[in-house]
Amino acid sequence: MGARRAETLVFKVDPERPDPEAVKAAARILRGGGLVAFPTETVYGLGAVASNPRAVMRIFEVKRRPPDNPLILHVSSVEQLFEVAREVPPHALKLVDRFWPGPLTLVLPKSERVIREVTGGLGKVAVRMPAHPVALALIREVGEPIAAPSANLSGRPSPTTAQHVLEDLGGLIEAVLDAGETLHGLESTIVDLTSDPPVLLRPGALPVEAVEEVLGRRVLVPDFARGLGEADRALAPGTRYRHYAPSAQLVVVEALDYSDLGPLASTVRRLVEEARGRRVCILCTEETEGLYEGLPATLLKLGSRREIFTVARNLFKALREVDSLGCELVIAEGFEERGLGLAVMNRLRKASGFQIVRAS
Ligand code: AMP
Ligand code: MG
Repeated sequence: MGARRAETLVFKVDPERPDPEAVKAAARILRGGGLVAFPTETVYGLGAVASNPRAVMRIFEVKRRPPDNPLILHVSSVEQLFEVAREVPPHALKLVDRFWPGPLTLVLPKSERVIREVTGGLGKVAVRMPAHPVALALIREVGEPIAAPSANLSGRPSPTTAQHVLEDLGGLIEAVLDAGETLHGLESTIVDLTSDPPVLLRPGALPVEAVEEVLGRRVLVPDFARGLGEADRALAPGTRYRHYAPSAQLVVVEALDYSDLGPLASTVRRLVEEARGRRVCILCTEETEGLYEGLPATLLKLGSRREIFTVARNLFKALREVDSLGCELVIAEGFEERGLGLAVMNRLRKASGFQIVRAS
């Protein structure tokens, strides 16, 4: 188990024009087998050189991540995609053309070069090219793909700032590149292209509707991608674990129809009243905050329902904040499963450990 190290180096860098010396120093640490957390446009990743089995194993140790939950390979060029994937079908290239660099991870048959520690022994590999100048500069400087999951302790909300990384992994990893808050605040969308039709393994910062538009066909959205239930490990590793969770109990209140927020708000109010004596937080929205006035609960506003991008961006931050506020029960409002709303619901349902209450 990862012993606390003396100190985690923090390299503060400009997100747009990172200091080349800081990037070089971080790349040296990686090449030496160390772990470096780095910003991407989604969340902060915890990187190791993808070809180094000992470094990759250490990712699992410090995160306390089950070894069968595989990592995403981060590349800085399409050539690197061809090195790690055995086959890159034309529809994969279409997606690459349109969305890379960006928050879309493709699952493809793996090449011989990808070590088993990265894929948890599976025959497929997950690959993406991040759209963040710091991440791209780092991968280029290392000269080969970087294996990286999110830089949080397993089960905790993903980090959207370097402070979040240090909260979870300070003293356990060699360094973090600090470029401030990430853009999306939500992980990448993962699509498995090895099956027909393609399957959404995880909704994320790129709406699945955009992927379907480019492919010109439907992508299968299984229940586990909605955050309902668990998938077979060979199909969708990682979906079986409770994820993104604060220490507090979390309940999601879901409406059948979000065009009328009345039943949603009255169900939230009832749950607050039933929770007498416990410290309650409500994850609410601009549209509903006025409906909770006078309740013995702390309101954390995620944003407006008309701007789901902002809601998604604030979600993980809020899931960490409820713990620092000492909340014992978190009541989260649900969202329509459209666009980024699908990813938001996936995260909320998993964070709740599937404690879902229907609005009535
Ligand atoms: P994280 O970056 O922490 O969100 O973790 C990466 C996630 O990518 C895992 O939890 C899996 O869901 C997914 N993933 C990585 N590699 C594969 C793979 N070979 N096949 C299917 N899913 C994968
Ligand atoms: Mg993660």
